[in-house]
Parts: sequence; C-alpha cells; structure tokens
Amino acid sequence: MKYQAPRGVKDLLPPESELFRLLEDEVREVFGRSGFREIRLPLFESADLFARSIGESTDIVEKEMYLFSGKGGESLALRPEGTASLIRAAIEHRLAEPGRLERLFYQGPMFRHERPQAGRLRQFHQAGAEILGSSDPDDDVDLIATVSRHAGISRVPASRLLINSMGCPECRPGYREILVDYLEKNHDLLCETCRRRTKTNPLRVLDCKIPSCQPVLESAPHLVEFLCPASRSHFDRVCRGLEGEGISFTVSHRLVRGLDYYTETAFEWVSDALGAQSTWAAGGRYNGLVRHLGGGDVPGVGLAIGIERLFLLRELAGTLPQKAGAAVHLAVHPLEEAARPYAHRILASLRDNGISAVGIFGQTRLKKAFLQAEREGALFIGLLGGDELSTGTITIKHLATGIQKSLPTFPPEYLSKALREPWTPDPV
Ligand SMILES: [Zn+2]
Ligand SMILES: [Zn+2]
Repeated sequence: MKYQAPRGVKDLLPPESELFRLLEDEVREVFGRSGFREIRLPLFESADLFARSIGESTDIVEKEMYLFSGKGGESLALRPEGTASLIRAAIEHRLAEPGRLERLFYQGPMFRHERPQAGRLRQFHQAGAEILGSSDPDDDVDLIATVSRHAGISRVPASRLLINSMGCPECRPGYREILVDYLEKNHDLLCETCRRRTKTNPLRVLDCKIPSCQPVLESAPHLVEFLCPASRSHFDRVCRGLEGEGISFTVSHRLVRGLDYYTETAFEWVSDALGAQSTWAAGGRYNGLVRHLGGGDVPGVGLAIGIERLFLLRELAGTLPQKAGAAVHLAVHPLEEAARPYAHRILASLRDNGISAVGIFGQTRLKKAFLQAEREGALFIGLLGGDELSTGTITIKHLATGIQKSLPTFPPEYLSKALREPWTPDPV
C-alpha cells in the first residue's frame, strides 16, 4: 500500500519550506509595522457563515467548499478564505463595535476544491489585513500603501495596481439598472454564463473572461460615472491619496465585487509575469459586512495576499527573502564510543550559545560523516577522538576551504565566538 498526498495539495519540503516561512515572516512583519495585530482563527467554521458572507450563488460556496458534519450533525466547512472568520470573531468578541478601531491580520491555510493547476492548490495560504471601524478614505490609502510600498510592487515583477469604486447602497442600484439594460440589449452577443448572471448578479458579468464577450463588456457603462457625491468624493480622495504617495494605479472599470456589502474602493494587484494575468493580492471596502453577519454598523476595509502566487512571482524575479547563514553551523562527529557523551555536552553548550549544531552518530566511516554534514548544510564539521577527549578540545574543519583548527571546548563562549568569526588559517 502506497500513500500519496491528496490531489491538489502540496508537501512543502526543505529548502523551499524555509523560504516559504521567510516570506510569510516578511508579510507578517510588514503588517505588524503598519499596526496590525494578529488574530488566530479556526480552520473550520459553520458552513452557513461562509454561505452568508461569501454569497450563496458564488463558485466558492456552490462548488468549492470542503463540507463535513460535526458529531451533532451541524454542517461545517474548512475555511475557503479568512475575512468571514475574522468578522465573525470580531463580532463575537466585541472587537467590531461602533466607534472602535481595530487593525487585525491573519495568516494561514485556506481550502477550496478547485481544479488543480499551476499556482492553484486546494490547500493554499493567505495573509490578510483588515481595518474595522473606519470609513475614512485615508485608511484605504494606508492599507494599499502597506502592500505596495513594502511587501510588493518593487519586488514583484510586472506588478500593477488596479482600483475601482463599487459605489454604495445609494448609487449602485441605479447603476445596476443601467448595466442590466445595456446587457439585455446585447444579450445575443454574450455567453451563457453572462446571460444567466445578467439576471442573478449583473455586476459579476463584467468579470467574464470569454473572448467573444469582451467587446460588449469593454463598452459597458462605467460604475464610477454614476457615483453619488459621497462615493465620488471617497473615490477621488483615495485616488489623490495614492498619487500623493507616489503609488501608480490604473482605474479598472471591470474590477467588481458581486455582493452588496462591498462598498466604495475595490483594488487588486496583478502581474503578467506568470503568463496569463494573475491576481496576487486583492481587497476592498465592505461597509455592510459586519451588519450583514449580525453585528453593528461598523465599516471595514481589508485585503488578502496569496502567498503561493507571491512566492512564485518573487522566485521568478529572484527576490525571495534570503536566509542568513547556513542551515547548520557545526556537525559534531564522535570518532569513538567514549567520545559520545563529550559530543552531547558540546552540542548542548553550542546550542545554548546560539550556534545551530547537529550530531553525526550513525556513521562509522569518516567519509560518510563528511557527506552527511554537507547534506545537512553544515559550515563546519567537528571531530572528537581520544586526543580531543583527553585535552578538552575539538578538531574543526571548515568544509568549504578545508582549513582545520584545534580549539578548546571550554569555556563554551570561546568556541561559539571562534565559529562565528571569519575562518582563516592560524599564523604559523
Ligand atoms: Zn454612493
Ligand atoms: Zn461571458
């Protein structure tokens, strides 16, 4: 019997797993420096929470959720995204309250049963940041700047920021009618999905990627031309704020969110570097979501970064964060039985002094011990035999240069300091 990982999921092996962790750490630090504090959320929730927050008639809820039953028969789902859980938790723990401002971030795996393809996994990772309790356009600007200025554009190849306005409950219904009129007039030129969505969710029609639909959709009326004065002013202030920050963007009239609680600003970072245009981060304002999920009248704006996409793009550009130093500093190899306790003592004292060290115990041939040290990414190998044991020393060889020295193992600070310094031959 041979076990394999389920289709669409991926084991992350070293050294890639280390780079992945460094990238996650970098994003975490970027959010932290912008004042976001971490919230740890469960990997599963009531399925109904996602149906209500993401929308019954979306692909995610209709086809892509991993559903299962709890022992009591309740319907549960692995989380397909983070915002729904975050808002649920913020309401439950009274972080989403009128007059209170909260900046929260989350990070971790999400689950969607999609058709596996390059850069799209069924268990994937997102990091998201949300500002609850502000309707100020400068918070939209600050959130966008957090990604554009630090984690993003300068190091993601061919990255562009797209923005649009979704309007508000005052002005969007009017636009929706105008759009539906237009789509119905061009009914014959649209695909099956577009025709269906014209009736169920007309804004989503603008999302269609089918080539034959493009001429009609390109000429569709623009939402930003039908904004009420308040939405117009919000959008203008976001655009001016981004210009003031020197962040370039394109207004994309077809960047839409299909659900009513998305309001005002919508934004997305895309890159063409992986072939077809792909979105690596996206966000927007959702002034109606907290109320929609049973909370108070608390506005919000947030974004999520797709960590696998970001990883692929940064790998392509050679801009992944680099690990400083070797995986293992010193590999310690006892040459005889009697030196084993001595090897354990040295490992413990080096680790206590901040040096990463491994023991090579299972190799009886010196050549094999050297090979293993190299495979483990060690900078040095330390050999312990009868002489070393009787004199309280260790014979250390720098694997890259072959330079060898005999060093005392006491005091341990002396040895760890010597291992951190440039390794040059002793003067003769
Ligand atoms: Zn409006
Ligand atoms: Zn279409």
